[in-house]
Amino acid sequence: MQLTDSHGRKINYLRLSVTDRCNMRCFYCMPKEGILKKGHDAILSYEELYLIAEISVAMGIEKIRITGGEPLVRAGIVAFLGKLAEITGLRHLALSTNGLLLADMAASLYSAGVQRLNVSLDSLDTTTFAEITRGGDLNRVLAGLDAAERVGFPPPKINVVIMKGINDAEILAFAEMTRKRGNSVRFIEYMPVLKEDGWQRYCISGEEILERIAGRYTLEQVDKGRFAGPSRDFRIPGALGAIGIITAVSGHFCSDCNRIRVTSTGQTKGCLFSDEKTDLTPLLRPPDREELTKALQGIVSGKAERHGITQAGYVHKNFTMSQVGG
Ligand code: SAM
Repeated sequence: MQLTDSHGRKINYLRLSVTDRCNMRCFYCMPKEGILKKGHDAILSYEELYLIAEISVAMGIEKIRITGGEPLVRAGIVAFLGKLAEITGLRHLALSTNGLLLADMAASLYSAGVQRLNVSLDSLDTTTFAEITRGGDLNRVLAGLDAAERVGFPPPKINVVIMKGINDAEILAFAEMTRKRGNSVRFIEYMPVLKEDGWQRYCISGEEILERIAGRYTLEQVDKGRFAGPSRDFRIPGALGAIGIITAVSGHFCSDCNRIRVTSTGQTKGCLFSDEKTDLTPLLRPPDREELTKALQGIVSGKAERHGITQAGYVHKNFTMSQVGG
């Protein structure tokens, strides 16, 4: 079955958040004090999350990415992933993690049937990394990357949020990583999520990132795979890993959008920056398959053609990526 939105985009990708809790406090993602802890009832149970996943696949979703918060901090995550991996019709099961717990969990994630890992890593310098994450240990993340490959995963994709004056001096070091380690690296434009004046000061466009890399290396364009989503991909000739640019803010993004999101509290959204969302919890308690299908279909067909964050009059939404499932 094929799922298409009202702008003709094929929607085959669900980002499913399993928790809003995180064991890091990246300054651009979460307030220092963390977010207000939700009661157990507010967070969907694994049975409820599974039902959403299963219905989505029946509707035409082919790829599910488990995200959060930090998905590896939720108890029982490995067993849940094992169940998801068995859904008939699901072609691709991926997980986003900050990598802190990966060294210990890589083997069980691989056995559970997770196919790909994305690891968020914003600096290769221990001090800058600790500053961005407010205390994170870079060496644990690097050990997690090594462990993932040792147990059989393809080299995890690295997601780097580039912020002017914070880590933009490391753009070339990350590009070099695609040659040295074979990881693909995706540079993500910083997006305004925390309600913060002057967020533009961190912004560097994907074009500028590319120009800086092209100043040192030759870049060849890479054909996108069927699950690639809205990144533009390049490769330094001979490098094992690719270099991707996600220009979420400056453009070239929405026309390739292939995703919907469901948060750990059961809110489903067609666009990260849209206010439009549907609360699935009343349809899950007790579960109503037909209504859940209708609600998910409604989110797909109601997907906006593009986000409006760079347009005049955009009203800043106050949310954290950890709540929406970045
Ligand atoms: N804990 C997991 C991880 O670290 O990948 C999954 C959740 S995390 C919220 C998902 C991604 O959102 C991370 O790569 C993070 O860097 C990104 N992110 C969070 N806030 C962002 C922002 N303001 N702009 C751009 N990316 C952001």
